[in-house]
Amino acid sequence: MGRERSDEVRMRAVDRKALLDALADELPPGMVRFSSKLVSIDAIPATSGSSEATVLRLEDGAVIRAKILIGCDGVHSVVARWLGLSEPLRSGRSTIRGLSVYPSGHGLKQEIRQYLSNGIRAGLLPISNTGIYWYLVNNTIPQGKLRKTFSLDQFELICTEYFH
Ligand SMILES: Cc1cc2nc3c(=O)[nH]c(=O)nc-3n(C[C@H](O)[C@H](O)[C@H](O)COP(=O)(O)OP(=O)(O)OC[C@H]3O[C@@H](n4cnc5c(N)ncnc54)[C@H](O)[C@@H]3O)c2cc1C
Repeated sequence: MGRERSDEVRMRAVDRKALLDALADELPPGMVRFSSKLVSIDAIPATSGSSEATVLRLEDGAVIRAKILIGCDGVHSVVARWLGLSEPLRSGRSTIRGLSVYPSGHGLKQEIRQYLSNGIRAGLLPISNTGIYWYLVNNTIPQGKLRKTFSLDQFELICTEYFH
């Protein structure tokens, strides 16, 4: 979502899987390891016989010796923690999102629909003729104060009201 002119908010949706597939397709086969969780990083200082390296250990036991490590592993980044970057701060919001697929077509217009209520924002955005990206955001009360939470029954009611 972005503001193109001072009064206009525009949104472009990208299917994450399609984006990943498009990026991976440009690389030689076997270069990307999917579902490989990084668990630890060790820096190996240079010696007379070898240059400095970074050793990555994956959850499946694989060990990778890397010359360059680029961290793009999200909000709970193992790389950021290893670099000593500060821990993420709470945004004061809890959210869920998903992609619903309607193989025969959803029949909705290609436009965003947002529904605002007291502390809650819900939205739908068709990303194709068959896929709808949806999200639900609940503003929580600032840290240290009582949190506003929903029971499962209340949550189901909200979803039913908004999405049916
Ligand atoms: C509910 C919700 C709605 C949002 N809506 C929008 C929106 O409408 N527009 C917008 O611009 N942004 C939105 N955002 C924010 C957006 O998703 C993030 O800002 C963006 O995805 C961050 O990108 P990233 O590459 O830093 O991390 P991520 O997209 O989180 O990617 C991190 C990747 O690293 C992988 N990973 C994590 N840990 C490891 C590990 N140990 N080893 C190996 N791989 C690992 C993960 O599997 C993931 O593939 C939303 C976020 C949420 C939660």
